[in-house]
Amino acid sequence: MTESSIRAVLEEQQAVLEQRLASIRRDSARSHSADSADQAQERENDEVEDAIGIETEQSLRAVRLALGRLDAGLYGICEGCGADIDPGRLEVLPETVLCVKCAE
Ligand SMILES: [Zn+2]
Repeated sequence: MTESSIRAVLEEQQAVLEQRLASIRRDSARSHSADSADQAQERENDEVEDAIGIETEQSLRAVRLALGRLDAGLYGICEGCGADIDPGRLEVLPETVLCVKCAE
């Protein structure tokens, strides 16, 4: 993949993740109903949304980190050991900044 196509992939991922995070935030900011049975159900939903939110935030951080590496001309170089990251790995995980060994 060329650098510009990698950037396009990462920027699209970033946009998708930001949108997802914004809609999770919107959902959890919604006022809760007074019915106690509904409240229990809503709390459960909130917990699931929290978990998805945390996961989304982590992914977003990884994508931004990868974009930063791209800007610095360090994309594809492992942040842990400085070795080249396997191109096949980057194709599957374009946001990764670690080689297989360091990611373990
Ligand atoms: Zn490494």
